[in-house]
Amino acid sequence: MLIQQTHYYDIRSRAEQKNAILVAVSKTKSIEAIKELYHLGQRDFGENYVQELVEKQKQLPSDIRWHFIGHLQTNKVKAIAPFVFLIHGVESIRLIQEISKQGQKNNRNIPILLQAFIATEESKFGLDEGEISRIMAQEAAQTFSHVNILGLMGMASFTQDLKRIRQEFSSLSTIWKKYKQFHILSMGMSGDYEIALEEGSNMIRIGSLIFGNRTSPD
Ligand SMILES: *Cc1c(COP(=O)(O)O)cnc(C)c1O
Repeated sequence: MLIQQTHYYDIRSRAEQKNAILVAVSKTKSIEAIKELYHLGQRDFGENYVQELVEKQKQLPSDIRWHFIGHLQTNKVKAIAPFVFLIHGVESIRLIQEISKQGQKNNRNIPILLQAFIATEESKFGLDEGEISRIMAQEAAQTFSHVNILGLMGMASFTQDLKRIRQEFSSLSTIWKKYKQFHILSMGMSGDYEIALEEGSNMIRIGSLIFGNRTSPD
């Protein structure tokens, strides 16, 4: 077994109870490990690196829904545009424009989530409320023809302070609720997904709890 089957079933049932989608984060993990999970019925997988995602997509079943959850560079959008199911951490207008352009070339609307800044740490990426509002105004004016902005994604601070994590998720949830066109709220990882589900997440991204710890850097 390359995966932690008991953890997987446990997380999956907690997600199902909340009508949340479980994205299995398979970055740095082998094709064999992904196949094991696939055979247990898992279809949503998340990757952080474009090259790795493209290689895996070629080798694995075509009904896998591939989520891009890493930091996407504008010049790499082209490589994933034909097949990506959802791009999570979008945080600039320039990137949205490029995704739209590549969507057009591939004759599809590419679903994305805006990454919101919720952590108090300096290091985390993301848009503030004003920036989200400006992007949604442009979206309403149909500025981005081949992109569907489906919701928000966020990461809490890397801390043991559970109260702070809850506050950060709760503030993201509050922003998310202001836009009735939003369907997806992607928040919660191995260390904090239970709090995220309690605070209204409907998409969790779980790596190490399912696949074991990663040895290579994120
Ligand atoms: C790696 C990663 C995850 C999964 O992290 P775990 O702590 O291993 O569950 C989730 N979201 C993003 C954006 C990631 O980069």
